Amino acid sequence: MRLRNIPGAREEMLVNPFIVQDPERLRGIWREEFGNNNPIRVEIGMGKGQFLLTLAQRNPDVNYIGIEKYSSVLLRALTRQEELQLPNLRLLRFDAENLETIFGEGEVDRIYLNFSDPWPKDRHAKRRLTSDRFFARYARVLAPEGHVEFKTDNVDLFEFSLAEAEACGWKLSHVTRDLHNSPDAAENVTTEYEDRFSAEGNPICRMIASR
Ligand code: SAM
Repeated sequence: MRLRNIPGAREEMLVNPFIVQDPERLRGIWREEFGNNNPIRVEIGMGKGQFLLTLAQRNPDVNYIGIEKYSSVLLRALTRQEELQLPNLRLLRFDAENLETIFGEGEVDRIYLNFSDPWPKDRHAKRRLTSDRFFARYARVLAPEGHVEFKTDNVDLFEFSLAEAEACGWKLSHVTRDLHNSPDAAENVTTEYEDRFSAEGNPICRMIASR
């Protein structure tokens, strides 16, 4: 029986070895947790985990950390990870608002943001994962050569994110407003939301921001 069908699954998740409890204790020592010196790549708002689980299977020499705010969503990724038992993947139920409490300066090599919540009202702009507040957090935890990769089908959010990154002094590259019809399409790993929105005919936007 799958974990999500078991009564008390949420409690069981608390003792699951793939869910990191109290991630603050690993700040600055994540490579010890993985037992190697490989790069660390983080997805914020991983949802059900299709993207990160695919990457972790393809790239055993990279360590992946999936961050998701809601346990009900994270449980879907956990169920899959229990089947695959990927040693290079850890999952966290965590709010990215507090990112710097779990990662040391320069500890992360790459941050993925996929189809982040758009928070369309102006008064909620600071909650967007591509707002200046979040870019300041990313700047602190990313290695100097690290970068942020962002995908969305939401054109307004994309334009906001491009402007916000530039205003924060980040350099933009690989900017496309139609990723699936771009030269990078072949190596693109899709997310659950990406598959859904793309099937509805929405072009997918993508940018990479580095310092
Ligand atoms: N990345 C997945 C995809 O592309 O299929 C899920 C996209 S979904 C629209 C956004 C996800 O980000 C939700 O699961 C939400 O709970 C999560 N999320 C939003 N804000 C977050 C935060 N501050 N910290 C961690 N996760 C967050």
